[in-house]
Amino acid sequence: MCVFVFATWSRLINLKTYEDPVSAAMRTLSSIVDGRPCSIVTTNTEGHFQLAGFHPTPLFEMEGRFTELACCAGCEAAHVSSERSVHEMAAHEEGCRVPNEYHPKCERCGAPMRVNMADGNSFFKTAEWTGKHAAFKDFLAAHVNDRSVILELGVGMRNPLVTGALAEAKQTLRDASAVVINKGGGAGLRPDGALCIDVDITRALQGIEQEMKRCR
Ligand SMILES: [Zn+2]
Repeated sequence: MCVFVFATWSRLINLKTYEDPVSAAMRTLSSIVDGRPCSIVTTNTEGHFQLAGFHPTPLFEMEGRFTELACCAGCEAAHVSSERSVHEMAAHEEGCRVPNEYHPKCERCGAPMRVNMADGNSFFKTAEWTGKHAAFKDFLAAHVNDRSVILELGVGMRNPLVTGALAEAKQTLRDASAVVINKGGGAGLRPDGALCIDVDITRALQGIEQEMKRCR
């Protein structure tokens, strides 16, 4: 049985997911994609891709998401939105404690709930995670012969989950253009052929958006 300490988490999630506005970069990315087939791998957990307008299907949030609670006893079908519980706990948190009566419980088995995010290797073996990974591979296989762009935004080499997925994408989509936008990450051609652009992501995406509008 897990014990999830909600005091800090409820405050953090309330702030990062529900109070912080969706960034201009995220909104611009959504506008650029504009319903085109895409697959998004990310270790962002704040849930802002959906709030920016992306459909949940192409999202592979590899470390889970703040917007969902999961049953500590493992009822995978018992995932629920965290919004009401998080607002309630954040509002009643005092001295880094949330009174027990506000701790969410699983509606199926009554066990405590926790935020649906990676807390150990078992997370990466759940049906949801393995299903999302399989869907990502299926997406790549379905677009082998299409003109594609692999867009890498602020990932960095210290993120093995996403860099591993990007390596899978590059291996499958051999003819895709790969573009890396990462301020401070250096500019030029990477050994794997990716074009690296060393500018602010928001500025770069807004430039791409304007150019796409001009070319319509
Ligand atoms: Zn349960």
